[in-house]
Amino acid sequence: MSISETGLKIKILGDTVLRRRVKPVAKITGRHRDTLSKMAQLMYAAKGIGLAASQIGLSESLAVIDIGNGLYKLINPKIIKGQGRQAMEEGCLSVPGISVKIRRAKKILVEAQDENGKPLRVEAEGLLACVFQHEIDHLNGKLIIDHATLRQKLKIRKKLQAIKKAGTADDKPIANLV
Ligand code: ZN
Repeated sequence: MSISETGLKIKILGDTVLRRRVKPVAKITGRHRDTLSKMAQLMYAAKGIGLAASQIGLSESLAVIDIGNGLYKLINPKIIKGQGRQAMEEGCLSVPGISVKIRRAKKILVEAQDENGKPLRVEAEGLLACVFQHEIDHLNGKLIIDHATLRQKLKIRKKLQAIKKAGTADDKPIANLV
């Protein structure tokens, strides 16, 4: 399936929906299950390893993640515990062509609900921990560029302006896209 076949479009830096904090899902319905499946299809089509609802213009606490070991469909995900530090180069489907090296917790415990409303606890480490934190950042209106150091910001400033202006970019992915 191609990106356009999902009927969804990935929002790009400059779109205000990316800066909005999402609302928790109070009652899980078929519409949420349908959205999560479409988000997964879009994530795979875009060759990403994670996607948050804000990235498709929805201010609801939904995210999908698959780093190659199976698909997580998450509703209302929250980080309960974090431990250790690691730094990884991160890209983002909503900030095309940019990557930022970000220090985050190395090991985390996440609580969420699955698509049927069952409680879900995931212990994640390494890349998976990184992706969970990246997606939960999205749900809080936060983007990779917010983690950039002043030096990194100066380096990517022109590129960011170009992305905002065009609303798209043709640059090839340069890091894990989430
Ligand atoms: Zn992202």
